[in-house]
Parts: sequence; C-alpha cells; structure tokens
Amino acid sequence: MGSTCDFLGRLGEIAGPAGLLTDMDAMAPHLVDWRGQFRGRADAVVRPRSTAEVAAIVRACGEFQAAIVPQGGNTGLAGGATPTPAGRQIVLALGRMNRVRDLDPLDNLLVAEAGCVLQTLQTAAVGAGRLLPLSFGAEGSAQIGGAIATNAGGVNVLRYGSTRQLVLGLEVVLPDGTVLERLGRLRKDNAGYDWKQVFIGSEGTLGIITAASLRLYPKPAQSQTAMVSVGSPGAALRLFERIDAELGEFLSSFELVSEAAYRVSLDHLPGASFPFSEGWVVLVELTAGSPDLPLGEVLEATLARAFEDGCALDAVIAQTVAQAQALWLVRESIADGERAAGVSVKHDVSVPISRIADLIAAVERGAPELFPGARPNIFGHVGDGNMHVNIILSPQQATDPTVAHRLNDYVHDLVAAEGGSITAEHGIGQYRRDELYKYKTVAELRLMEQFKQLLDPRNLMNPGKVIQVEPG
Ligand code: FAD
Ligand code: ZN
Repeated sequence: MGSTCDFLGRLGEIAGPAGLLTDMDAMAPHLVDWRGQFRGRADAVVRPRSTAEVAAIVRACGEFQAAIVPQGGNTGLAGGATPTPAGRQIVLALGRMNRVRDLDPLDNLLVAEAGCVLQTLQTAAVGAGRLLPLSFGAEGSAQIGGAIATNAGGVNVLRYGSTRQLVLGLEVVLPDGTVLERLGRLRKDNAGYDWKQVFIGSEGTLGIITAASLRLYPKPAQSQTAMVSVGSPGAALRLFERIDAELGEFLSSFELVSEAAYRVSLDHLPGASFPFSEGWVVLVELTAGSPDLPLGEVLEATLARAFEDGCALDAVIAQTVAQAQALWLVRESIADGERAAGVSVKHDVSVPISRIADLIAAVERGAPELFPGARPNIFGHVGDGNMHVNIILSPQQATDPTVAHRLNDYVHDLVAAEGGSITAEHGIGQYRRDELYKYKTVAELRLMEQFKQLLDPRNLMNPGKVIQVEPG
C-alpha cells in the first residue's frame, strides 16, 4: 500500500507544487459541500492541468490504494463531491483543466475541458453567435465536468433537453488509468455501444471526465419573458397545455413558482421588485431565431385566451432585457433565499406532468399536518414534470435529525405512488444512496453494481456514492 508520505511525494511529482494542496486551510473548502451538510477528510487535494496528469494520478492512486473523489465547482446538492470521513483518499479538483479546445459555429460544437465553468462556456458560445443552452442557478461556479457527471437539468430542458442531450462526445480517464477518447463531432453514430451515456450522470463513480464535446444551437434573435399569475398548480398545468399547443416551438422555459418560493427569494434580494404579491406564478420564456416574428404579439394573444378560460389571472410581459433579467433573478435566487431562510429538506422529484398538481396538493396539505411548523417551498420545471418540493424546517425541527428522514420517506413515497423519480436533477451522491435502494428494482440495482464492478473492481472511484459495493 506504501506510506502516505511516498504517496504524496508521487502526487507532487505528477501535479507539481501548485497542483498539490495538503495544508488544512487550503483544503478546507474542498472538504465540505455547498450546503454544509457533508464533511469529509482527504490526504490531499490534487489539481491536475492535463488529461495525462489525471491518468498518472489515477494510476498512482491505484498503486497506493487511495480513493479518488472528483470535484468540479463543488455546487452539487447530493454530497457527491465531498469525500467520506475516513480512509486514504484524495479530492481530484478539475478547475485547472479549463481550456476551450474548439468552438466551431458551423458544426455547432464546443469542445471544452472538464474544469471550464459553465458560464464561461455560455459566454464563449454567445461570442460565436451560438447558444449553449445548459443553464441553472449555480452556472457561475459549476463546471461542465460536474454538470455532465450529474446530468444537470435547469431551465432550458423543455426545449433543448438535459445535459445528456447536449453531450456529443467525452474524454474519460477510467479507474485503471486508461484514457477513453471520443470527442465526437457527429450527430449520428451507431458504431457500437454508445459508452458515453454510462458516464453521463455517473457522479464520478465510474471514471474522470476530462473533456467533452457539446452541442450548440443558433443563438435566438429575440425572446419574450412573462410572469403569469395562475392561482393554482392545476391552472398552471392548463396554461402549460395551452402555451405548448399554441407556441410550443418557441417555448424554452415554463417555471412554476409558489408564493412561498418567491417570498424567500425576495427576502434575500433587498430592493428587488416583483409584479405579484400572492398566489402561484409561472415564468414563461419564448425565444425565436428570426427577429421578424411578432413573438410578443402572439404571446399576448395566447395569454388573452388563457385569461378567458381562467387558467391565467394576470400577466406581466417584460418590456426590456433588464426587466426580463429581474424576473429571472427572482427565480434563480430561490435556492440562495431558501438557504438563508433556515434548514430545509430538499426533494428534487419528477412525476408525469399530469400528476404535478396532485403531488403538490398532497404535500401542501400533508407536510404541515405531519410536521407542524414546517413550510413547503415548492418550485420547478413544469414541462419536465420536475418539481423542487423543498420543506423549510422550524428551528426546533432543524435540531432533530429524524425529521429529514421522515420527511424524505413521506414525500418520496408520494412520488413513488405517482410513478415518479426521487431525483430528477441533483443525483444520488451520498445524500440519497440508501433511498435509491428503496425505490429501484433489484434487477436495476444489480446491473448498476455490475457496471461499477466491471469498471472499478477495487472501488476506488468515489466510493460510498450512488451505490454500495464491496471491493472485488
Ligand atoms: P460538483 O458539485 O463538484 O460534483 C458533482 C458530482 O459530479 C460529484 O459526484 C463529483 O464527484 C462529480 N464530478 C464532478 N466533476 C467531475 C468530473 N470531471 N468527472 C467525473 N465526476 C465529476 N442542478 C440541476 O440539474 N438543475 C438545476 O437547476 C440546478 N440548480 C442549482 C442551483 C444552485 C444554487 C446550486 C448550488 C446547485 C444547483 N444544481 C442544479 C445542482 C447541480 O447538479 C450542480 O450545480 C452541478 O451540475 C454540479 O457541477 P459542479 O461542477 O459543481 O460539480
Ligand atoms: Zn431545478
């Protein structure tokens, strides 16, 4: 197994002095997750500059039997990037692998290293007249490698799909140090198994993503953003049906926000204005490639029909880019506002679209009844059937560790009864690992464990995350 001193010496040779952190203060931010829910330890934080360095580090970890915890922007919400409390392990922080290797407008393709911050890539795409549609609240810190490893969703999935649909190819370092490379430029490729799919959403348990080729889209020439007061989640579903039917080809976002959710966000944004003071709202965004289409007019006409049939009560259409951004800011700041509002238990669930209103009604009725003082904070992506059913705890509940477990069981049993999933976006990590075993079938779990054992027989790649396996 070798001594820790020898191990660190080897890592230093590979990554250089700037690429090896062993000082406790320097390592500290890497050993805790964004929400401060998980803490771990590591012998070192290693910051490679190249794929070759990643491969050499992985081989050294194999030799010294050290576990590897890949880490991107450390914004994940499932504790996947936080090391466990014990054992020889390193955090492999990808932030220094931040080069854009290629950006080709005609191929609509961006090839980027894993450590590129998502927002930087969005900006690079816009500079070339293109759109990288992956967008979510943590985009200023999250890295593309982390987004791929969690198959992140966000606000544009309705139109462009989640990360999985945007990845054309990957470069991955396998647990034995082999570099697997197919940074494809192709839209169609049926030559054999599509192995990249196994790594998308694998949360660092099967290999290290070092680069990706991503699909770009033409940058829309115009957009329309509206905040619509809908009265209830059921009305929001009817509004979605109408807008999808009439304007579906332009619809890029349809976000449902409860009164509780925009209130926690506004509390966190002093000076921000918001058009409504009560009831459920929907944030709708339409985009179009042609500057000549009367997008504002058609949106107004559709909303007028929605007022008539009662699925919309009132609406504000942003007249300027700044107004649209102000509306989006309130939506994007819900997570930060919720964090400031106290301890919350998050549920990132998906159900068939038709079941959303029933699920919300059940939680809004049942959660405060079963857990007096708990406050549901619900928002999400209606078109994807994905709701963030978060519950802010009272200060007293926050001190009782059993509350979160009982709430999880309560919400997830409701979701399972509706044929849903316990995580639509954030993944399993260590947060939901035991619950995965409750809600997946034995056959599915066995297949996942077989994949893991095939690729990582010594269980050194992010052990303790997603699935439970013993080293073979
Ligand atoms: P990290 O947190 O560093 O890592 C996440 C997981 O990926 C870990 O298991 C880690 O081991 C693994 N990993 C990281 N990099 C690599 C790599 N190069 N190779 C292999 N494995 C790797 N998610 C959504 O889907 N939709 C949202 O709308 C959304 N909104 C969010 C809003 C906020 C405010 C926050 C804080 C988070 C939000 N998230 C959302 C969570 C989202 O999954 C993460 O923010 C993001 O995808 C993770 O990227 P990261 O670089 O921070 O990864
Ligand atoms: Zn989300």
